[in-house]
This record gives sequence, structure tokens and C-alpha cells, in this order.
Amino acid sequence: MRIVVGQGSCGIAAGAGKVSVAFQEALSQTDAPVSLELTGCCGTCYLEPVVDVYDSHHEKTTFVLVTPEMVDEIIDFTLTGKQPASGHLMSEEDLTAQAKQKKVALRNAGSINPEDINDYLAIDGYKAIEKALKTMTPVQVIEEIKISGLRGRGGAGFPTWFKWNAAYQQKETPKYMVCNADEGDPGAFMDRSILEGDPHGVIEGMMIGGYAMGASEGIFYVRAEYPLAIKRLEKAIEQAREKGLLGKNIMGSGFDFDLWIKAGAGAFVCGEETALIASLEGERGMPRLKPPFPAQKGFWQKPTNINNVETLANVPWIFRNGGAAFAAMGTEKSKGTKVFALTGKIKKGGLVEIPMGLTLREVIYDIGGGILDDKSFKAVQMGGPSGGCIPAQLLDTPVDYESITQTGAIMGSGGMVVMDETTCMVEMARFFLDFTRKESCGKCIHCRMGTKRMLEILTRITEGKGKDGDIELLEELCERVKEGSLCALGGTAPNPVLTTLKYFRHEYEAHIHDRK
Ligand code: SF4
Repeated sequence: MRIVVGQGSCGIAAGAGKVSVAFQEALSQTDAPVSLELTGCCGTCYLEPVVDVYDSHHEKTTFVLVTPEMVDEIIDFTLTGKQPASGHLMSEEDLTAQAKQKKVALRNAGSINPEDINDYLAIDGYKAIEKALKTMTPVQVIEEIKISGLRGRGGAGFPTWFKWNAAYQQKETPKYMVCNADEGDPGAFMDRSILEGDPHGVIEGMMIGGYAMGASEGIFYVRAEYPLAIKRLEKAIEQAREKGLLGKNIMGSGFDFDLWIKAGAGAFVCGEETALIASLEGERGMPRLKPPFPAQKGFWQKPTNINNVETLANVPWIFRNGGAAFAAMGTEKSKGTKVFALTGKIKKGGLVEIPMGLTLREVIYDIGGGILDDKSFKAVQMGGPSGGCIPAQLLDTPVDYESITQTGAIMGSGGMVVMDETTCMVEMARFFLDFTRKESCGKCIHCRMGTKRMLEILTRITEGKGKDGDIELLEELCERVKEGSLCALGGTAPNPVLTTLKYFRHEYEAHIHDRK
């Protein structure tokens, strides 16, 4: 029998550490055959701390919102099956919301112990890399990814196979495989949760990508604000080395591959590939001109491939189940599943993973439970500060790259910030502009000064000091900043303003006219 306490950052913040200590103390006073284990976040952040009890037949019962006071009763339940008076079982509604999802990238988070490689090995972990090394050439590996239709989950949605192939084609060595874990969108925590809950899944994805492109070295670029993810990743790398899964001549295949971690200092722009590379090289994190592309001249001017955490977490699943199985989910051009962080004015905030093509309404209402306090839905911000807001009349938009782009927002890395009827959309645009203005690296004047001027205008509008002509000036600045920016940070910074102007122009006008 096992008691498993969810200990991702969300669980720990909700008190899972204290719950775990209470279990430890209570179990130390019995000789009951119950083991105490930890796992990552299963996605239901709104129900943390979450505790799973597995009986002797491996049947699972999930308790939610657990406090140290409930521990004795849960142990009693584990041993005798007696229903606790105070414990909350996961409700039918919550179980149904879980059942509507399809977990691929999140398949192991919340079920295995991320700090014990044996848990990952027990579910056939590292079998995907074994299959690739023993039965496939690098070209076949790339072909499998092409069949899967996997596109980069960091925001751009670029075909993964194309990037791997571009790096594979380079003759120069050494080559580098980089995992971009510099997740920085406000309200986004998909990558953190995957690394905290299933680090070996991402390591295995890195190994397969490294084998495909011919890299012998992999680097995790993780923002330093993710200490638990870094700790679990360090442990996982160490354990993989001890098992001979990293290092020289892996599985007798002749493939050499090892990994190290670079903790990034938290600049949003370092999520951009060339800025990330500059930061890795010890330079200030500023984007560089492309071409040359990283696949040609990346880290230390050598061929480099960069993939986001979620992208890589999908890779072992694809090799275990086949590219066609992945491609069978989703829409014609957006294959597979996508992880989203549901935050803001939503009842069931947390992580969800859905097949592409579900509508926003299904995600927000059927899975997310609807709007807090049963208020009206007003808009959802997708794509973070680079994205835009999607209003209520577009709630039936399918969640896929193409459909979301048509609304003026972008899929982005997966942040979904839900807003209710009380949200001021001008203030919301101001918030995101303030963020991009602070995070602009300052290299291009359009981004550096344009976002500053836009923020000034938005601030005076929200303060009731807006002037006639401000909206037109904002629109002009949006175009200038988009056109004159070197990288996507500046190029997409106007999106929150443009989409709020498109769908909520009357709110801008009301702010200005109220003053009069
Ligand atoms: Fe830096 Fe902004 Fe130019 Fe990007 S667009 S390089 S963030 S100044």
C-alpha cells in the first residue's frame, strides 16, 4: 500500500510539505506496510494538497485539499477502507474534467516519483531512446517526428522535424542540443510542472533529439526562479549517469551524450533562441540577427538545436506509440495535444492537456469549471504578453495554431488567463505592455522607446487623463513597433493592445470620454 503526496511547487505552496511531514510522523509510529512517496503536480492545482492512496490491488483513491489534521483518518482508510469523516475525495465533476483531457506530455506528472529513476524505468522509461538507438538511424528518427506532425510548443509552432533535420544536415561538430526552459509568460507554468513532475521524460526527449542531430552534449537552460525543477533535474541527470544512460557509448550503441544545466537569470527575452545562446555563452541576453540560424551557427558558433520542454516531453511518447498515433490526435495542421496553464478568474485553475481542436468553451467551462463566482466570461488572454485577448463571442474557436492566430492572439507557450466581466481591458493591455517594456533588451529603438511611449499613453488613459487622438497614436505605434523590432518580443508586444482595441475599443473610448 502506498500513500503519495503531490509535491510540485503548487502543492508545496498549498501545504503539501506539512502534510507529508504529518504522514511521516504518523507512519513512523505504526508498523503498517504503507510506503510514503512523493509525486509531481497532476494538474489540479486548485485542489492541492492532493494525496493518492493505492491499496494492495493498486487501486487509487484521491484525496484533495488535504490538511495535516486529516492524516490519521487517511492512514486509517488506507489500512481498513474506512471512509474518513473529514477527508475530501475528488468529486465526480473533477474526475470528469480529468477524463476529458488527454495526457501525453503530462502522462507521468502526478503518478511517478520524479526523484527516483526506478519509478520511470518501471513504466518502461528510456525504452524509447533504446528503440531509437538500436533500431533506427538518425534519418528514421527525424522521419518519425515528421510523421507525428509535432510542432514546437514554446510558441512559434515550427515543425520539430525541420529543426532537427536542419541541425542533422550540418557537417560541423560538435553539435549542441538545448532545452529551452526559460518559461517567462505571466500565468504560464507548464514547463516548470513538467520538469518537476517528469524530468526523465524530458531527458529522454533530449537524448532522442541529440541522437537525431548528432549532438554529444545537451544543455538545459532553466530559469533560476525554478529551484525545484532544477533540483529534480540535477538529481535525474545524476541518476541517469549512474545507470549508464548518459555518458559514453550509451546502451552499447556508440552514442555519447551528456547533459548539464544552466540557470538563467530570468530575463524574458532569453526565451528567444539567439538571446538564450548569448546568455549561455556568458554574454548579456540579447537577440542576434538571423541568419545564420542556430542550426548553422549557434552555441559557440556550432550547430545547435533548441526545443522547448513540452515539445521534448512529447518525444518519448511518440517513439513508444508511433508518430501516426500522435498525428491521429488534434486537427489537420495542429497535431497532438497541448498543455495549458488555466489561471485568472477560473474555478479550476491548474494545468490541462487537451487534444488540439477542442473549443475554448470546452476548455474553460467543461474542464475549467467556468468563471469564479459564476460571473460572466469576458475574455481569455492567450500567448502571454506576446499574445492577445479573445472575447466571449469567439468562445467556440477551436484551440489550434491556425484558429487562435485568426483571432489576433497566438497559441504561445500555453498560458490562458481568464477574465470576467469586472476586468478592465485597457488595464489588462497596460499590464502586459508594462511587462514587455520592462523586459525589452533595449537593442532596437522601436521596441525600447515604442513600448515606453505606448505604456505612457495606456497609463494616462487608465488614469482618466486620455486625450483625443490617443487611440490613433496607439495604433500607429503598434505598427511601428511591430515593423521595427528585431525579435519576437518587440514584434508581438503590441498584440494585447491591438486585440483589445479590436474587440473592446469602446472601453478605451469610455475611459477617454468619461474624463470629459
Ligand atoms: Fe531587444 Fe526588443 Fe529589439 Fe527584441 S525587439 S532585440 S527585445 S529591443
